[in-house]
Order: sequence, then C-alpha cells, then structure tokens
Amino acid sequence: MTVPICPICSGMEFREFRGRKNAWCASCHSLERTRYIWLYLKKLNILNRGSVVFHFGPEKGVSDKIAEIVDAHNYYPLDLFPQTYTANKVLPYTFDICNDIAHEPDSSVDIIIANHILEHLPVSVDWVIAEFARLLKPAGSMILSVPMASNPATVEDLSELPKEERIRRFGQEDHWRVFGWQEFPAMLERVLATETIVRRDEHFTHEDLSRAAIPVETVGHPTSNTLFHFVKSERSSKRFEWRTGGRLAKLRA
Ligand SMILES: [Zn+2]
Repeated sequence: MTVPICPICSGMEFREFRGRKNAWCASCHSLERTRYIWLYLKKLNILNRGSVVFHFGPEKGVSDKIAEIVDAHNYYPLDLFPQTYTANKVLPYTFDICNDIAHEPDSSVDIIIANHILEHLPVSVDWVIAEFARLLKPAGSMILSVPMASNPATVEDLSELPKEERIRRFGQEDHWRVFGWQEFPAMLERVLATETIVRRDEHFTHEDLSRAAIPVETVGHPTSNTLFHFVKSERSSKRFEWRTGGRLAKLRA
C-alpha cells in the first residue's frame, strides 16, 4: 500500500476533513484539491520569476510555494477577506472580483488560479470567466475548480435568501450556486470558445495521486476536484474588450 506524502510540504500526517479520509495535511493544511493544483502546476512547469500570477483565495500551501518561485512584484494573492490568511507567507491584497476585475488591463496576466471561488460571486459567472480571459496574456493560463453536485445542471439563485436556505441549496451560507458537472464545462466552452477540461488521469497515474493523498475519481464526470485549464490563444486577444489602468497593474509599472 502507498504511504501518502504531501507534495507541498512532505508531511506524512493526514486527517479527515468533512467526512473525507486523509483529506487534510496536518502540517501545511492543504486539501486534496490544493495538493492537486500544486502537482499540476509543477507538471506544467509554467511558473517562473517573471510570471504575473493572480491567485484568488490563495491556499496557504500553494501560495507559499508560488511565492518561492515568482518575484514578489509579480505574484498577486487576492481575496475579499485577506485577514483570514495570516498564516500565508504573503498576505493577500484586498480584491473584490465583482467590482475590481473590470479595472485591470487586458493581456496583463500570465496565470490565473481560482479554486472554489466562482460559487461565492453574486454576479454572472459567464462575465467573470470572460473577464479572466480578457486579463490573460496570449498563451496565458486560467486554472479553475468549482464545487459540483451530482446534478448535470447548475443551480443558481442571486436573490436574497435566508442563510438556512442557501446552506440547503448550495452547501454554504456564502454560496450563490452549485455547479452542474455538465453545465459548467459547457459554459466554459461557450464563453471561451474552446475545449477546456483537463482530466486528471491524462496527467497522473493512480499511483501518483495516491502518493499525494488525492482520491482517484471513479464517477466518470467532472467533480469538485476536477481542474479546468484554459490556455488563451495567441491570436484571441482582440475577442475581449480593451481596458487600461488598474490598481494591480500600477504596482508592476
Ligand atoms: Zn502538506
């Protein structure tokens, strides 16, 4: 039997999290999807000192690793509530996707990472995805994951709902939707006009995943751990509206 070792911190103690055995690394506090994104970023080998990275909801383990590779003035861990990340090596910048993203310039970011972020936004997800794509430089990468139910269709409600109703329908009081395993990839393909899904078994063996304490998928469709990876075409930058300026872009100037 494989003894799991955390690919982020080399820790060997894993604990149960929300009923999932061996989900939580006791030393770097990573979850399955955090370890998976790190394995994937390493496999892609796309991070370097000059990469401009927007990392939303920056998970500690991955954030600390990225900060070791990418120059400080290029790495932007971003969150609406940066004070919840005091354990991170780099404290996130305060950033509200719904209001701030529209001010950042076109073709200015190499890599966007947003794991389990889109369910928190009370705006059109299509619009957010198009904005992310607009921000990317040609050949830039967007890597996403979202919570998914066993339903093929996305269930969303942007109206005012009681906390309990939100928990019942979307799993958490601060969620506005739960994504469908069929509708989410279809939406990405519609907005981005490309094939976007990355299936983990194309990149990693079962042994690779077990060793990193990442469960092997058996359901045959995307799940909350599936990574979606979009690479912006070298020719597509004109498809998205042009903007200049931007608070974060000014920090790099
Ligand atoms: Zn760890």
